[in-house]
Amino acid sequence: MIFRQIFDHESSTYTYLLAERRGGDALLIDPVLEHTEQYIRLIDELGLKLVLAIDTHIHADHVTALGSLRAQTDCTAAMGEMTRAECVSLNFREGDELKADGLSLEVLYTPGHTDDSYSFLLPDRVFTGDTLLIRGTGRTDFQNGDPASQYDSLFDQLLKLPEDTLVYPAHDYNGMTVSTIGEERLYNPRLQVSGKEEYVTMMNGLVLDNPRLMDLAVPANRLCGLGSTAQ
Ligand code: FE
Repeated sequence: MIFRQIFDHESSTYTYLLAERRGGDALLIDPVLEHTEQYIRLIDELGLKLVLAIDTHIHADHVTALGSLRAQTDCTAAMGEMTRAECVSLNFREGDELKADGLSLEVLYTPGHTDDSYSFLLPDRVFTGDTLLIRGTGRTDFQNGDPASQYDSLFDQLLKLPEDTLVYPAHDYNGMTVSTIGEERLYNPRLQVSGKEEYVTMMNGLVLDNPRLMDLAVPANRLCGLGSTAQ
């Protein structure tokens, strides 16, 4: 498998490029508008063809490259059915399989950070968006975020995966690149709670500034980043 983790310094976002083989089909998870040309060059250098670009959720801290990638490569741009973004060419839902050649990502609906948060599962790894971060979890105080449903997404879905499942989040602010489900179960401070009530109280007690680009990014991302002035 070809696997690349690409970092955006501005928003600390990870974008993932996946393909089964050189010369085959590729997909991108959570691409950032400003890196469109970088992705296209890398895909070209690896002899790949981009068939699918997907977002784990509507991001508030950067503008998506879904629209720009579709315009330049003719790939399918996809978001979850809960996103209600009219710009996408495909809406996925829980249980769907997103494919590029023999790679097949299983879609998990993992709301809480937002009501349109999804995770994508391969046999050995999971892309957790902002639902599960390395030693953290995504904030739940805007975009229909809900700590109780995030608790369910974490404890009933993600943490039930095998403990050696690799965890690749949508962001990291501390320089970490990958974790495992077992490691997060043990050492993620947000997960050391006695139950849902304690988790909800903890999340509701967080006082956080809004992301700098939020007012620009959220409306732009509903349009797949097209028409944005951020580029
Ligand atoms: Fe987010």
